[in-house]
Amino acid sequence: MAKPATITIPTEPIGSIPRPPDLIERFAMVDSEDPSLDLLYEDAIRDTIERFEAVGSPVVTDGEQRKYHNFCTYSVHGLPNTAPDGFKIPFSDGHTRRMARLTRGPFRYKRYADCYLDVAMRYAHVPVKQAVISPSALSLMYPSDRIPDYPREQFIDDLLSEHETEIRRCLKKGAHKVQVDFTEGRLAVKIDPSGHLLNSFIDLNNLALSRFSAEERRRIGVHTCPGNDFDSTHSADVDYAELLPSLFELKAGNFYIALAGESDRRHALKIIRKYRKPDQRVFVGVTAPIDPHIETPEEVRDRVLEASEYIPVEQLGTTDDCGFSPFSDDTSTSRDTAFAKIQARVRGTELAEGLIGGR
Ligand SMILES: [Zn+2]
Repeated sequence: MAKPATITIPTEPIGSIPRPPDLIERFAMVDSEDPSLDLLYEDAIRDTIERFEAVGSPVVTDGEQRKYHNFCTYSVHGLPNTAPDGFKIPFSDGHTRRMARLTRGPFRYKRYADCYLDVAMRYAHVPVKQAVISPSALSLMYPSDRIPDYPREQFIDDLLSEHETEIRRCLKKGAHKVQVDFTEGRLAVKIDPSGHLLNSFIDLNNLALSRFSAEERRRIGVHTCPGNDFDSTHSADVDYAELLPSLFELKAGNFYIALAGESDRRHALKIIRKYRKPDQRVFVGVTAPIDPHIETPEEVRDRVLEASEYIPVEQLGTTDDCGFSPFSDDTSTSRDTAFAKIQARVRGTELAEGLIGGR
């Protein structure tokens, strides 16, 4: 008789789910804050959470249905003191996405992500996690020429304070986890192979993380990935050896690391084994949103077993490599495909849990 599983391997999504086509069509025509969108947003969030729960996801998100226009600039979208010609994110298929540029101080968020939690928690029957953008990503809004009467140092103070406020509001409302999206970490190595930019991002984000207690940091995580937009990446060619040693210097309790889409998973796992700190849980990516192939539960199970050779099961979790649609108008993956992959992640993680627990 098989022994009952005693080990639990937590599994969590990253955040975004492709928006329903009617919502995408509608917000192409009106402003993102147009009240005529409210019902569509609400329907999309309700449907997203129902589908998460239907596939047995023990932790859900609102699918970032209302994060307009993306995971990165939702908090500053529509600010009057910005211009559209900010930092460009170049993707491997040649397309770019552009951030806003700050034109004058003071820097304040227009909205905090806990407003999304308010809605999601009305519908969810299981824990809800919330992703927020990192200070390092938003630091790219400050122009290379200084803003008169608003020095960069003042901007950084304001940015850290806004970010801290956002995380505290999410924690207070009961977010299962608050995940800091740090996709620009790997991109930083591509932009600056010397590692200087990456280190400055790590230092900045640690200034923010240091404001939280050890207890709070157990509910805070960091997500790294090579980017995902229209099934294209921005930094998949950067070796994890250039990123992960610095990444684990971040004072966070959880790491959500894209792994399924890596060309050499064991190479990455060896680096994780070497640099992970004892109090850091690693959620490895077991499904790849940019790959149209829908993973089977058995494939996921085998990836979890592979990861367990390098990471103690008590410190292991599973996730998707990235959100399924970090930018709201990305239609390269359907909702059906996203939830089929999530179902495989949940089932495959359970299968591995049964095997490891029964050892
Ligand atoms: Zn990602």
